This record gives sequence, C-alpha cells and structure tokens, in this order.
Amino acid sequence: MLIDPEEPLAGVRTKIVATLGPASSCPEMIARLLGAGVDVFRLNFSHGLHEEHAETLATIRQMASERDRVVGVLMDLCGPKIRLGELPDGTMSCQTGEIYTLARTPTGEENEFSSTYDELPEDLTVGDSVLFADGTVGMEVTEKRPGLVRLRVWLPGVIRSRQGINVPGSGLSLPSLTEKDLVDLDWATKHEVDFIALSFVRSGADLARLRYELNQRKIRAKVVAKIEKPQAVNDLSAILALSDVVMVARGDLGVEVDVARVPAIQKRIVKEAHSAGVPVIIATQMLTSMERSGRPTRAEASDVFNAAIDGSDAVMLSGETAIGDFPVEAVRTMSRILTEAERFETAAHPFEGIEVGRDVGWVSPITESVVEAGSLASRKLGAALMVVATRSGRSALAVSMQRNRTPTIALGQTDEVARQLSLLWGVLPRTIPASISDLDEAVDHAVSWASDQGLVTSGDRVVVLRGFFPDQPSHNTMVVREIENPS
Ligand code: PEP
Repeated sequence: MLIDPEEPLAGVRTKIVATLGPASSCPEMIARLLGAGVDVFRLNFSHGLHEEHAETLATIRQMASERDRVVGVLMDLCGPKIRLGELPDGTMSCQTGEIYTLARTPTGEENEFSSTYDELPEDLTVGDSVLFADGTVGMEVTEKRPGLVRLRVWLPGVIRSRQGINVPGSGLSLPSLTEKDLVDLDWATKHEVDFIALSFVRSGADLARLRYELNQRKIRAKVVAKIEKPQAVNDLSAILALSDVVMVARGDLGVEVDVARVPAIQKRIVKEAHSAGVPVIIATQMLTSMERSGRPTRAEASDVFNAAIDGSDAVMLSGETAIGDFPVEAVRTMSRILTEAERFETAAHPFEGIEVGRDVGWVSPITESVVEAGSLASRKLGAALMVVATRSGRSALAVSMQRNRTPTIALGQTDEVARQLSLLWGVLPRTIPASISDLDEAVDHAVSWASDQGLVTSGDRVVVLRGFFPDQPSHNTMVVREIENPS
C-alpha cells in the first residue's frame, strides 16, 4: 500500500535519531523534524560551541513541551578522534607514491602536516597504514625519526585541514576521554541531556572510565557506546555489560575495518546486544544521498528496512539532517520505510516478535515473568494497548525487548526517566503528572492520551503492568482492563 507522505506517522516502533547541525538547529526546523517523527536529537560535540549547544537544547525542550512530546537528547562526545592540523593551503592533493611528513611540530617544509595528537609520530611504526578523509586517502609509514614519520601514498586523493585520521587496528596510547570531553562533561552538569555517547570506545574499561566521570559529576544520563573500532568488536561482551545502549557507528567502523565486514559486524552486534538486553542504534550513511536529493537510492531504502527487520531499536541520520538540503524529507522517508518494515514483519510473524532479551539478568525473574505474561495476554486478548508503570525504566526495557507489537505506553515517574525511554523500540514514553498518585488514575490518564492519538476506543482491552508505583509497595502486577469511556 502506498503511504501519503503527509500522513501522520504515529506508531512507528523503530526509533529515529536525527543529528542537528547548521541545516536544522533553528526552532522552525526542530519543530518540523519533531512533526516528521524524530524521537531523539543528537548534538554532535565534534562541532559547535557550548553556547550553541545550550541554545539548541533549550529549543528542543521548549518545542517538545509545546507539542506534548517526550523527546530525548543525545550528547555525542568526540572521544579520542585524531584530526589533521591546519594545512598551509587548506588542502593537499596526494598522488600515489609521493612522500609526506607527519611532524609533531611542523617546520614549514613541503608536503608536511601535523595532527591534533602530538604523540602520533611516536605511536606509529613502520608499515602502519594511516587513513585520511573517511578512508578515501591512504598512506603507509616508511620511516620513523624522533618527532616525525614519513608516509608514502598508496591511495591517492585530496586531504583537508581538520579531517579525521584513522590508524586501523593500532593500539594508540590516547586516553578514552580527552581534555575536551571532560570539559564537555562539565557542560552537561548544567545542561541535562538524556544520553551521552562515547566515540572510539576500545574496551569495557573505557565505559568504566566514563561512568566514573559521570558519577563524579552526578550526571544520570544513559551511556551509549559507539562501536567503531575493531578492538571494541573484540571486547563486545565487556562493553555491553557497561553500556545502556550501543551504536553501530558505521562511518568510522567502515574505515577501521574492511567495509566488506561492516554488515556482518552490524548483525552480530544487534544479536549480541539483544541477548544482553541492550538497545542498539544503527548509524551513518543510511540515507546519505538525501543530503543532496529529495529521494533516497533503492539501496538506502533497503538498508533502513533491513536494519529494522534485523531488530535494531533505532536508526540514525547524520549529515542528512545536520548539513543536508532535505532534513525533513529524510526523516519522513525514514519513517515511511520503517512503517513498511513493520508491516512486513507483522505479516511474516503475526503472533510473535524476535526472541530477544531473555534471561538477561538485569531485570528480576519476577519482572521478567510478569512482562512475558503481559505480552502473552496482550496477544491472546488482542489488546489495543499496554501500559507499563516504570521507576528506573527497566520494566519498560523488558517490555521493549519482547518485541510485542501492541502499542505500549511507558509511564515514567519523572520527565528524566520518560525521556530516557525515547530510544526503546515500540515504547511511547509519557510522564505521570505530579498531581497523580494512584495507578488507576495514571492508567486513565494514559488511556485518555492514547484515545486522543486514535490508539484505543470503547470496548478495547488494555494490559496494565506495574513495575512500581509511587508510595505503594513495589511488586509487579498485571491487570487487564476493558475501556468503557476513554475520555
Ligand atoms: C560514525 O562514525 O558512524 C559516527 C556515528 O560517528 P561520528 O558521526 O561522530 O563520526
């Protein structure tokens, strides 16, 4: 069935993360992106000033509140990304066989450049491959001297000031959090973001370090590990144990490992993350051609569709929304593809979702059993809605991991908890109004909202799961209600 591009896109279960940038940070664009179906906005701290991010964050909060939307904000730390220093003429055209010098301190000689990591010449060894400009230019270290290395070009192309440098597979001695990251975390003590992503994670220890810094600053944001280095793929289980979410950051991953391996690594991460009960974001180049065109390629449409079918919780737009000419169209297109993927999946598996998140250990066996019972009941009864009241968010995560297709409202006790649920597959987060202290009343409130959204009507059944409720003994329960008069 063809979908009208202007059709309201309620109920897309796979979440959409959109990166904000010069093309999209103004209030008007944020409002339009929200309308098109964005669930989480990404602020990329590789670019922009603190004042600019603060203004964008305030705009997102205001726009979301005016529209009664629960929207997450993801702060993406640069991590130990190495960049080229300033090139004398801004660019260099590198030809096969030419020799270049990477110097700790530039001397002004021809074909010379520096990097943002002073120790890089010391850390490199003869034979190392060094890639520039997203892997489009390649050089090999041929000679090493104190304070510099010489490199021979094997993959020709143009390099520009400040472009990224990758040394695939190397064990560079960079700290996992740079001075800039720590200053950025200080910013986050005064500006409440919902997720903090760490770039270039190499091991579980990198996440432990981030968690330490967050605790020191009393920041409660959820931790996202960006998997973009082969070392991270090798230490996946330790990383999963210390992450709230993982991101398959295919941009740098496709430079750090052979691009041909990226699809298999993506599928492996989705599978292992779900076994560990950790949601997954698939990121980068999902609809790249939409930076300059109003329509995606067929291959891109298939990529988004397959990411959803494989079981990812969220898909992410980067340049498409940050610097592209068609940010709103990119989100709408992504939403339409996800809708089709969910229809296809529902037709293929009418009664059950993918088996994920079982016996993961982070929810009690009681919560897990009640959540499973709730999913079963909602399917058997053809329930129109599930409502889950959740204190920490774990019950909502357990419901999400079931991949039950019944629309699910997760009631968070605070805005903070509700926003942290914005990445969860199939979960519509809402905050329980402070005036409500009774579960029945909270469910009435959720049902009335669901009725306004066209999700339920008189005679429908609602499965209510309680992970907690304020001021009442905390025990998990499941209740089935029939709606008489939703509003
Ligand atoms: C990536 O490399 O795919 C990614 C998401 O990170 P960034 O956009 O920060 O390069």
